[in-house]
Amino acid sequence: MAKKGLILCVCQGTCPSFKKMDTFEVLNAIRREKIVDFVSLHPQLCADDGDQYLKILLDNKDIDKLYVAGCDPLMQQKMFRDAFDAVGFDKSKHIAFDIRNKTTEEAVAAIKEAIKNNP
Ligand code: SF4
Repeated sequence: MAKKGLILCVCQGTCPSFKKMDTFEVLNAIRREKIVDFVSLHPQLCADDGDQYLKILLDNKDIDKLYVAGCDPLMQQKMFRDAFDAVGFDKSKHIAFDIRNKTTEEAVAAIKEAIKNNP
């Protein structure tokens, strides 16, 4: 069955761009509303092990939408391209959006908006 999931990527948790939000509370807010099938947190998706994470996750062909809240969408598209290609994941199923410099409430609102606009 097709699944939708959210990954929060936070530049190792050390980048000032993610200091205004409580990342676990962001994930909890989305979980509580059950608007995706799973949520997860990755410290650095653009590192080699992030590539591995994406490949292992997406090798499960049931994933129909992958929302990635992190940095600039165009950067995400470039950085994840090889991992998507390696497992044949259709790039149009990757919904990327930027939550840097947002508070917890602003990040939750941005995620909900992105999911609503790309159901
Ligand atoms: S993918 Fe973006 S948000 Fe994630 S660690 Fe790399 S630069 Fe930071």
